[in-house]
Amino acid sequence: MKTLFNQPSETVFCKSCVLSNQKPVTIPEFLHQKDRKNASYMQVADDQVCVACKFHNVKYSTINWKKRERELLKLLDKYRSKNYYDCLVPGSGGKDSAFTAHVLKHKYGMNPLTVTWPPIMYTDYGKRNFDNWLKYGGFDNVLLTPNPSVRQKLTQLAFKNLLHPFQPFVLGQKNLAPQIAQNFGIKLIFFGENESEYGAPMEKNKLPTRSKEFFTIKKINNTFISGVSYKDLINKYKFTYHDLMPYLPIQEKSFNKKIETHYLGYYLKWIPQENYYYVVENCGFAPRPYRTDGTFLKFQSIDDKIDDIHYYAHFIKFGLGRASHDAAKEIRNKHITILEAKNLVKKYDGEFPKTYIKENLEFLELNLEQFEKIIDKFRSPHIWKKVGKNWKLRHTVNLDGYND
Ligand SMILES: [Zn+2]
Repeated sequence: MKTLFNQPSETVFCKSCVLSNQKPVTIPEFLHQKDRKNASYMQVADDQVCVACKFHNVKYSTINWKKRERELLKLLDKYRSKNYYDCLVPGSGGKDSAFTAHVLKHKYGMNPLTVTWPPIMYTDYGKRNFDNWLKYGGFDNVLLTPNPSVRQKLTQLAFKNLLHPFQPFVLGQKNLAPQIAQNFGIKLIFFGENESEYGAPMEKNKLPTRSKEFFTIKKINNTFISGVSYKDLINKYKFTYHDLMPYLPIQEKSFNKKIETHYLGYYLKWIPQENYYYVVENCGFAPRPYRTDGTFLKFQSIDDKIDDIHYYAHFIKFGLGRASHDAAKEIRNKHITILEAKNLVKKYDGEFPKTYIKENLEFLELNLEQFEKIIDKFRSPHIWKKVGKNWKLRHTVNLDGYND
C-alpha cells in the first residue's frame, strides 16, 4: 500500500513496548532535506522487539555504569577550568537540560555556560522552570531569540509543507549550540538524553560524540528549511541570508573541528522519572499543573504551547501519539506494564490538542477548518482509513484498528 513518507508499508508493533516500525528516527541528513525521502524508521526485528527496547535491556543488564562514570570523569578532567566556562549545556529549562547542567556543576565541579534557543510560545510554567533553572543552579545563560516574524513564517511553512511545525525550531536548536561554543571558545558541549533512548540505531550508542557532519554543511544551496529550498526561500519568499542564518548549520570550512559533543545519558544511567524527582528537588522544577492533551504525563516537553500541535501532527503522520511515546518510555524504565500502557494509549493517544489550540491557530494564521484540511492531507493511506465522516487507524497496538 502507498505510504506518504517512505515508511514501511506494513505496520509491525513491538511486543515489549507500544511503538511500531512507523516511528521515525531522527537522522541528521534528514533535517535539512525537502521531505522524508531518505528518512529512517525504527527497526522492529524478527523477534518483534524494537531497537529502543533492546537498547534498554542492554542499559539494565550489560553496561558497566561505574566504568562509564570513570570515562566521564576522565573527559571532564580534560576540560575542567577554574578560570572560564569549560562546557556548554543547551536547554530551555526542561527537566533534561536542568538535570544535565546541575549535575555537571554541582556533582562534578564543572563550570557550564547554558545556552537557550527559546520556545516559540512559552507556557507560563515553562518560563518559570527556565527562570528557576538559572536561579537554583546558579548559571550564566546566553539566550538567542530569533527574529519573531521570520520564525512565525518558517513555522507556518513547515506546518503546511511538512506537517512539522517544530522543524524550524529543531533546526535552530541544533545549530545554536555549536555556534555559541565556537564564539565563546568552549570545546565541550553536553546534551542530555542519548538518542538510542528514542530508537536511533544501536551502533550510535557506541559513539558518545557527534561528528562535525551533524553540525556543518558544505553547500548552503543544497539546504531546505520548512520543506522549501534555500534558493526559493531567498527568491520566492524574500528571506535574506541573515533571516535564515540561525537556522543554518555552520559552513564546514569555518567550523572548529576540536569542539566535542557528548550525551550525559551515555555516561550516566538515564531514567526520566528519577531525573524528574532530582530537578523538582534541586532546580525548582514544577510539572504542568494539569494533564497534557494526548497523554498522561505532566513533566515531559511542557515549555512550548506548540509542542501539543507537534505531537498531534506526529500522531496523524505516523499513527503514534504522545501517549504511545510516553508509555513506551515508562514501560522500558519499568514503571508500568504493557497492559497498563495499552490502556493509556487507548484512552489518550491522538486526543485533540484543545488546551492551546486557540493560540496555535492564531500563530499559524489558520482557522480550524483550514487547520484540519492540512492535517488530513498528511494522513498516509497505509495508516488511515476513512469510514463515513471519520478517520480510523488501520492498525493499533490494542488491535482495534480498521484492518486488525
Ligand atoms: Zn519496543
